[in-house]
Amino acid sequence: MEHNSSNFIRSIIKEDLETGKRENVYTRFPPEPNGYLHIGHAKSIVINFGLADDFNGKTNLRFDDTNPLKEDKEYVDAIKEDVAWLGYEWDGMFFASDYFEEMYNRAILLIKKGKAYVDDLSADEIREYRGTLKEPGKESPHRARSIEENLDLFDRMRKGEFANGEKVLRAKIDMSSPNINLRDPVIYRVAHATHHNTGDKWCIYPMYAFAHPLEDAIEGITHSLCTTEFEDQRPLYNWVVEECEMDNKPQQIEFGRLNITNTVMSKRKLKQLVDEKFVDGWDDPRMPTISGLRRKGYTPEAIREFVKETGVSKGSGLVDEMMLEHFVREDLKLKAPRTMGILKPLKVVITNYPEDQVEMLEAEINPEVPEMGTRQIPFSREIYIEQEDFMEDPPKKYFRLFPGNEVRLKHAYFIKCEDVIKDEDGNVVEIHCTYDPETKSGTGFTGRKVKGTLHWVDAKNALPAEFRLYEPLIVENEKEEDGEVQEEAEEKTFLDHVNPHSLEVLQGFIEPNMDSIQAHDKFQFFRHGYFNVDPKHTTQEKTVFNRIVSLKSSFKLK
Ligand code: ATP
Ligand code: MG
Repeated sequence: MEHNSSNFIRSIIKEDLETGKRENVYTRFPPEPNGYLHIGHAKSIVINFGLADDFNGKTNLRFDDTNPLKEDKEYVDAIKEDVAWLGYEWDGMFFASDYFEEMYNRAILLIKKGKAYVDDLSADEIREYRGTLKEPGKESPHRARSIEENLDLFDRMRKGEFANGEKVLRAKIDMSSPNINLRDPVIYRVAHATHHNTGDKWCIYPMYAFAHPLEDAIEGITHSLCTTEFEDQRPLYNWVVEECEMDNKPQQIEFGRLNITNTVMSKRKLKQLVDEKFVDGWDDPRMPTISGLRRKGYTPEAIREFVKETGVSKGSGLVDEMMLEHFVREDLKLKAPRTMGILKPLKVVITNYPEDQVEMLEAEINPEVPEMGTRQIPFSREIYIEQEDFMEDPPKKYFRLFPGNEVRLKHAYFIKCEDVIKDEDGNVVEIHCTYDPETKSGTGFTGRKVKGTLHWVDAKNALPAEFRLYEPLIVENEKEEDGEVQEEAEEKTFLDHVNPHSLEVLQGFIEPNMDSIQAHDKFQFFRHGYFNVDPKHTTQEKTVFNRIVSLKSSFKLK
């Protein structure tokens, strides 16, 4: 795979190899299995696997499963499926929980060195004592405990003698450090909970900031790539690696998070959308999850190309969702067969066409790729067109069907509107037309020209199909900033921005030659855009299509 565009992380790695600071490149993608992966994770995946690939290095898939309360095997399986689907092969697959024993031993080492202590303060008190950016923190009264007492208490924490929150183990660093992360961070807590991997073996769990550097060091990771919200934690990361006397010393490098307009990009919020039934699961096609994008019809190629185009930098970028759409259109342009489907049917009777006749018309599968060959489309006396392709009383410059007007039927004949049939309430229910046999498509007819071309399907032979059209899930989304104040404000409001019209379901018809299509087959429907056969809702009786993207947009790649 090509990943050769230059960026600041690549430069650092290159220099490390050239100066002999490193002999190899070993990265990891470290998701916490507390939700499904989203397109932001795809960025991290492409960066980690891509960089290692470029330098003949290795990449681990590591589940950062240090919080038994939120993690689940379902998420582990989904994450593996998504990484593989994106086209990446991991070297090792590990769990942070594989290292619990070693982490525990390193914590004991810290205690023995006088660098960690058991604290009895409550979570609230610890927060209070921590101080602020302007004021230094205050030392806990338990900070001066003897090594022996700490060893004994930590052992009893492990044995389950204390309730959740009753005791914690803290690193002893500096309560007046200007970096709040270094004010004696909690490194172990009591949590009486069953872990998806280790069951009930443990009732104390390492905190992320302690566990993560150890995981990296244990696996021999050279470059630990993460997003910029961890920048302030880098001194703590280095402290843990140093004080725990790890042989391998990984280097943490931060890059900016990917954000996309009109959606949310946080597992916690996505989980809320699932739990509160705003969507029909993590793989709902409206979700920015990898599984949602897959179900909608995105290809791994499109996602990878999109992510590469967003680049690697320190700043967190808000990217227009239209850019994502651009890449799937580009990818499908030459791959997807063309076809015709009617989303909102209106019946047309061609009164001068022989009653029982059916003729087969030939059409190219993809005019841009003639090798894809041709398909057969039946044509007969009754067809469906789109409701929006007829107007009884059209404005100027309306070139589709209206009384007295003639249009071209794609791949077929010219038809002329002769009569409009209405029901009792005055709704148009049927159009009567005549056709001109001289105008058959492909025969080189040049007698006269018409301005409108309509797509259609044969009414008798067409197959029923359901079309699902999507709009953004979130509207008026403000830029997601790193930082707690913004987070909290947004927390309250993001559900208010859920778009109630994000899904439209239509019952229509497709060409009968589509009778053996499979889940995930992709098509370009004339005028309507690219569609994917939905793997969940499609049945023997009815194919369900998800619209991946419409045909055109105003978006231009810079
Ligand atoms: P979320 O906030 O969605 O829960 P997270 O950062 O907590 O994301 P992790 O499971 O810890 O999720 O993420 C695994 C890796 O993916 C981390 O290295 C993280 O930095 C990276 N990552 C997560 N979100 C993004 C994003 N939007 N852009 C780039 N990288 C991301
Ligand atoms: Mg997280």
